Amino acid sequence: MILALESSCDETAVALFEPTRGFAGEWTHSQIALHETYGGVVPDLASREHLQYFGPLLRRAFAVVPLKNIDCVAVTQGPGLAVCLAMGLAVAKALALACGVPVVGVNHLRAHAFSPFIALHAAAPEKFDEYFSDLLPHLGLLVSGGNTALFSIDKERRIRLLAETMDDAAGEILDKGAKLLGLGYPGGPQIEKFAREGSPTAFEFPRAVAQRATLDFSFSGLKTSLRYKLEKMPVEEVVRRRADFCASYQAAVIESLARKAKLAFEQADYRSIGLSGGVANNKVLQAGMESLAAWCGVPFSRAAPAQTGDNAGMVAFAVSADREAGGVNAGGFGLEIAPSLSLDLGWAHVSDFAAVSTDSYRRRNRGWRFDAVSVRRELCCQATGWRLVSGMSVPCGQNWSFTASLATEASNRLGLALVSKIITINQLRFISWLLR
Ligand code: AMP
Ligand code: MG
Repeated sequence: MILALESSCDETAVALFEPTRGFAGEWTHSQIALHETYGGVVPDLASREHLQYFGPLLRRAFAVVPLKNIDCVAVTQGPGLAVCLAMGLAVAKALALACGVPVVGVNHLRAHAFSPFIALHAAAPEKFDEYFSDLLPHLGLLVSGGNTALFSIDKERRIRLLAETMDDAAGEILDKGAKLLGLGYPGGPQIEKFAREGSPTAFEFPRAVAQRATLDFSFSGLKTSLRYKLEKMPVEEVVRRRADFCASYQAAVIESLARKAKLAFEQADYRSIGLSGGVANNKVLQAGMESLAAWCGVPFSRAAPAQTGDNAGMVAFAVSADREAGGVNAGGFGLEIAPSLSLDLGWAHVSDFAAVSTDSYRRRNRGWRFDAVSVRRELCCQATGWRLVSGMSVPCGQNWSFTASLATEASNRLGLALVSKIITINQLRFISWLLR
């Protein structure tokens, strides 16, 4: 039985998965309500919320499958917000220590890449390898709040990155558009809701890079175009035509995605098309990709809604589905967070601390609101592995939040060396809490 943990961004999630049978359960706590007021994810608040919710979610999981039946603890290693990833890793290591089982690090993006095939596994676990092999080579489109990528999975289940976004991710561009239009967070679902009442041809938005023969995506012109249109229009008019704005803006994003996917399909011999990530919930995108697959004459699979966002189900599934050497990292207790991990295993090493500018941090972390302290902490973390500064403790009985604030305080005052010791002590306390 694989116990998987996910805490890369704004969802705390736990899943239990048995490769020969399927899921024994999935438990997710979404932080949308917490971050809504700020219009985006606040890393420090997110990490504290992970700290608070891992305990209760794990208790529910252990009510279904006792601790002694766990064979492996899987955890999202990256990419994601460093403070949040560190929380998952600390809990995973503590659990693995308590159970005497290996801890393995999973690349969140690769977990997304395999997520459209979870349903195939659920239908017939014993036949999964055979049926999956019939669908390879596979062309996948991964669209989330932080990533937009086209990739292939070949016969040996090796993943190759074909294209990425040159600027914003698809989810990010929808979220930013929604913000300009005065809609709530996260913006993607809001845009989709309003777009149902509007016309996709009411406004013209640029699809510049989509027309060129490159596979890479670019959405920056789109956001600027929306801003200019809104600035020129009286507020009442903007409100009156909101549905049209949403429909036209959404259409520009989705058309670019579908057009690039079609271009990629034409460049090699694929036997299936897939769709994954948070934006995969969008019905218009689903329909677009489905008709593309029909046009191409290959089967289409998309991730189920429960496995589109930041979920632990796909993390557990990746442990058995991802066979590429290094795809899943059995890193043991030396496992470290990897905030900038890429889909094709690339590691963005941060060897030179000074080279990491606040700007690059801001770009990678979606331009959300953050304060100077959290940036400093994240940069420290990237430079020192997972001996992170902020909120680095793991839950301990009734004193979780106290322990968290103590760790934060101590780290600020006493430096990283001590923090790593605090973590170790907390892991031991967490284990004793588990075994009580
Ligand atoms: P993730 O990064 O995988 O957690 O997914 C979150 C992203 O998916 C956010 O940018 C959301 O705005 C976006 N998203 C979620 N649901 C939808 C939807 N129905 N339509 C468009 N975007 C969506
Ligand atoms: Mg999320």
